[in-house]
Amino acid sequence: MRPSSLAFALASFAMMPFAEAAAQAPPPRTVLAIGAHAGDMELTAGALLIRQKKKGDRIVILHMTLGEGGNPKATPAAYGAQKRREALAADSVIGAESIFAPYRDGAVPNNEAARRYVANVIRQVKPTHIITHWQKSIHKDHANTSAIVQDAVLLASLEGVVTGNPPHRGIRGIWYADNWEDAEDFQPFIYVDVSEDVQQWRDAVSKYEFVRGGISSFRYLEYYDALSIVRGAVAGKQRAVAFNMDAFGKRRVLDSLP
Ligand SMILES: [Zn+2]
Repeated sequence: MRPSSLAFALASFAMMPFAEAAAQAPPPRTVLAIGAHAGDMELTAGALLIRQKKKGDRIVILHMTLGEGGNPKATPAAYGAQKRREALAADSVIGAESIFAPYRDGAVPNNEAARRYVANVIRQVKPTHIITHWQKSIHKDHANTSAIVQDAVLLASLEGVVTGNPPHRGIRGIWYADNWEDAEDFQPFIYVDVSEDVQQWRDAVSKYEFVRGGISSFRYLEYYDALSIVRGAVAGKQRAVAFNMDAFGKRRVLDSLP
């Protein structure tokens, strides 16, 4: 999709002068986090989701797949059932509603039907904010999810796209999560203070066996725990999570030098 198309779908916020946006009282938020595999969004954005939940926002996580292929010691069917239970437990600690898309691990289809599926979820959930994967990734499911979500935001806004639910145009921005697998060209742009939310985040992600250790050799819990210290150090906070945005989302319009 052309960047200008996504800019159009997000125009109501992106084009708003920065000072005007800051001056308005924040309306209620609904955050929809869309991850390729169960666990992706909880690990990368869970602390922010916990923070927003404490502020009274509605939090929904859409898992494109269960990530059921990630355990060499278990069948996809058995591990998928485990991942589903773990996702529900982790999302419950976050205070998030869970939605499971009908796709298989390693096979998130980068096609029109998947865009329409996600567009329809967007129309049902009516998010003000979307969090998903950065566009470049070593994992095909992550890159496909990012591409699908960017197009789905536009499709969800268009009157002419029929999905069974009315169009939704209230999305103020797509925030791209800070994921070790999606690191190519990722630049942290927004930092959010999560100093008070890290313990609850640990409790949430530890519902996943792959996070506790023993399935993958990657040290998930230590990596994301340490990353929150690194991002926090740059942000002048104890702990922070960082997100990237599309280039057009970084535009600031001022009357004069600040
Ligand atoms: Zn993943």
